[in-house]
Amino acid sequence: MCFSILIPRFESNLLKIVTWIVKLVFVTSLLAAPLILVAEAHINNYNNSSSQPIISQVSNTSSSNDAGAPTKLAIITFDDGYKSQYTSAKPILDHYGYRASFFIVCNFVGKTAEEMNSSSIVNFVGKGVEQMSWQDIMTLYKHGNQIGAHTMDHLRNLTSMSNSELDYEIRQSKQCLVDHGISTTTFAYPYENGKDNSTIVEKISKYYSYARAGSYPLMFLHCDHYKAHPQVDCRTYLPNGKVSVANRYSIIGWSHDSDRRKYSYNDSQMLDRFIEVVNSQNQYNKVLPGQAGAVEAIPIIVYHRIENSGLQYSSNVSLFAEEMKYLHDNGFKVISLTDLVYDNATNSFYLKNS
Ligand SMILES: [Zn+2]
Repeated sequence: MCFSILIPRFESNLLKIVTWIVKLVFVTSLLAAPLILVAEAHINNYNNSSSQPIISQVSNTSSSNDAGAPTKLAIITFDDGYKSQYTSAKPILDHYGYRASFFIVCNFVGKTAEEMNSSSIVNFVGKGVEQMSWQDIMTLYKHGNQIGAHTMDHLRNLTSMSNSELDYEIRQSKQCLVDHGISTTTFAYPYENGKDNSTIVEKISKYYSYARAGSYPLMFLHCDHYKAHPQVDCRTYLPNGKVSVANRYSIIGWSHDSDRRKYSYNDSQMLDRFIEVVNSQNQYNKVLPGQAGAVEAIPIIVYHRIENSGLQYSSNVSLFAEEMKYLHDNGFKVISLTDLVYDNATNSFYLKNS
């Protein structure tokens, strides 16, 4: 009697269990399918890396873009420490929540326009132009901007200096920032002089992790797309012993103001050129379906004075505002120069997760 009752009940329960398992397997397979497709796309992409190299996967940097859209980045830097960077550029940067790098000439800090006209300031393009104060620089620093060294005196002749003079311009310009409560890992070459000189590069490497030079519209994270200077990676020295063009002590920036000067652009033409430069990364930062965001190239924009003087190495305030608005309205993410990290294992850069 017991069996006659139990067996049908057992069969019924067994049927339910089998049905449940079948359903579970079916639902699981549906859920798993997209994951498998993503994984396959990832593997295929990796296998195709010779035709479209994937330099680094930076899912965090693509958060503002739709899946499949190219990751659009920009890095903003300012050289020479002019007051207008604080009074005119900072409010616009703050409006968009952008942070930038400011390269400071230590012995110029706090000087008035008159003091900058002194005969002791030699061969400097910003002679007679007011400089930021230490308070301005500290405010920038405390607001999350990055401060870098740009030597003590912005002299042209780094390559012909004695060791002690070179030491002063390179080592002391870091110490000067430290003495004012600012730590830094970055240096920028005045006039780009010395970036290809092994003595200077060795000296910089003692005190800094990175140095910015120029001038090309894009910095390639594998340093391998500079047609005039073939490199296969970002090693500091080429096989022939010469300093490579792009490396951790020669991170390539694009001088907005040099282009303006070179081509005599008005503001409208300069804005067009800016748009062309910042979008030139799109051909390299392609994203395949299922990819989080592959970054290979970044424009590192170099500004000097943001003011309406019309003088060389200055950009009108309205132009700078339009350029920042363009970045904002077109989904660019502005990252810091210090988000670029050098990987000794691959001799290339990747982007720090932030
Ligand atoms: Zn400079």
